[in-house]
Amino acid sequence: MSKSLFETAIETLDRVAKMMNLDPNILAVLKEPERELKVAIPVMMDDGHIEVFTGYRVQHSSVRGPCKGGIRYHPDVNLDEVKGLATLMTLKCAVVNLPYGGAKGGIKCDPFKMSKRELENMTRRYTVMIMPIIGSRRDIPAPDVNTNPETMGWIMDTVSMFEGRTVLEIVTGKPPDLGGSCGRFEATGRGVMLSTIQTLKKKRCDPEKTTVAIQGFGNVGSIAAKLLAEKGCKIIAVSDVTGGLYNPKGLDLNSILKYIETSENHLLKGYHKKGTETISNEELLLLDVDVLIPAALENQITGKNASKVKAKFIVEGANGPTTTKADSILEEKGAIIVPDILANSGGVVVSYFEWVQGIQCFFWDVGQVNSNLEKIMTNAFDSIWALSEKEKTNLRNAAFMIALKRVGNALRERGIFP
Ligand code: GLU
Repeated sequence: MSKSLFETAIETLDRVAKMMNLDPNILAVLKEPERELKVAIPVMMDDGHIEVFTGYRVQHSSVRGPCKGGIRYHPDVNLDEVKGLATLMTLKCAVVNLPYGGAKGGIKCDPFKMSKRELENMTRRYTVMIMPIIGSRRDIPAPDVNTNPETMGWIMDTVSMFEGRTVLEIVTGKPPDLGGSCGRFEATGRGVMLSTIQTLKKKRCDPEKTTVAIQGFGNVGSIAAKLLAEKGCKIIAVSDVTGGLYNPKGLDLNSILKYIETSENHLLKGYHKKGTETISNEELLLLDVDVLIPAALENQITGKNASKVKAKFIVEGANGPTTTKADSILEEKGAIIVPDILANSGGVVVSYFEWVQGIQCFFWDVGQVNSNLEKIMTNAFDSIWALSEKEKTNLRNAAFMIALKRVGNALRERGIFP
């Protein structure tokens, strides 16, 4: 069985702390989340019975500012996963130098089997249960796997009803009509595209001659696919929970995007086109492509399949898709991995813009959002790349070094209360 995401995050923290001689006192603080909340969420289901769901909100660190991180709905959600994801959020926010700490939330449920009303009631009840610890200057939630702008709108409305005023800045990733930032919906996928193009540039590869396979065709994968295709890359495979599509000559992305607009649960199942074959998620990971983008869930590239992965570049759209074991196998093979805390940071960067806009009640245009996103991500990418060359280490270690240095400095400067 693979390690939990939290165990993997701690393993990486330990390894990098040793490499950079991080003060053991700082490491000790960062190895434990500050606060973990578990809640029971009763929901009256459509058939009249009450289902009690388990939810979590974990605040890993508030050292650099309010905690920040998404909320996911998935049958596999558990405390260790949420702790791991919260830890990654602290480091992600530090890598792109946002004035935030890290948090994450989740509810163990199968949203595909629930009606809209059940989902709304579950979301609102969960919001009330975590209200004692969230807040626009304490902990600001956002979307993650299987949650979306509509979910964020329910959270914003619930908190606003209790406060007796509209609190835009309590949550990010809201619909644009409800104080959401333009460009937020596309931001994570856009950041994945930017990281991929920057990697190709560093390695002097022509996007027009680059083939790409993407695991996960939700908010991150589908938008990364579209934007990379616009840059000239050939997307030869995509997949979601129902399986994958493969065409060595390049997929017809427009027809796939059109198909999922109306397909059941917006999934790929049932799509047909001449020249396009169906493949499994596992087969997709092993395709002979230049760039592989795991943009679904954690622990996808493992000690079992890593030696068979052929991609030269792996850009982590998901959080924690590569296990520690897989990491070292891939490194030995000479693959370059752009780590999650950099590659998928576009979402939280534009969340930060949304929060700032909400507080100021002054909204930017999409050009301003996208150019600021590109500036922040390019700076982060360049400094990680430069440090990895200087320290002769991989990009994950370099990214963790930069993040740990920032969090460590903040902790030292604040001191330990009392
Ligand atoms: N869930 C996203 C992530 O893992 C976005 C978090 C946010 O915007 O706060 O980065």
